[in-house]
Amino acid sequence: MSTPDPITLVCPHCAAINRLPEARLGAGPKCGACHQPLFAGKPIALKEEGFRRHLQHDGLPLLVDFWASWCGPCRMMEPQFELAAKALEPRLRLAKVSTEEAPAVAQSLRISGIPLLILFHRGKEVARQAGAMPAGQIEAWARAHLPA
Ligand SMILES: [Zn+2]
Repeated sequence: MSTPDPITLVCPHCAAINRLPEARLGAGPKCGACHQPLFAGKPIALKEEGFRRHLQHDGLPLLVDFWASWCGPCRMMEPQFELAAKALEPRLRLAKVSTEEAPAVAQSLRISGIPLLILFHRGKEVARQAGAMPAGQIEAWARAHLPA
């Protein structure tokens, strides 16, 4: 039997921290503060502060697409990552971080090439994969590295 421990979710709209039973993850949960959906069915764009907040406080594994506006392969992968978000939420949280808007994050993670996917869980890096990938491959890669 799984325990009904609540899971902590950071609202993608107002950044409030929500707690809800894991069983309710798939039931279209809404934020207790701003009443907007906690899952938008697409990747959320995070800047440095939001990224750190999710990393620290969100209980779900976090899959981040690091990209930049000047990077052609990144823009090619964008719709694929959105498709992967539809397939993977709410098991995972998917986010996009621009290395132009969050250079300190890129530096602290020693990101040298993009697009780059990094999967985090409980504040720690679990796996990373460089290069553009189609949605099915992103999904398979993420599932293969999910914490048990
Ligand atoms: Zn909210």
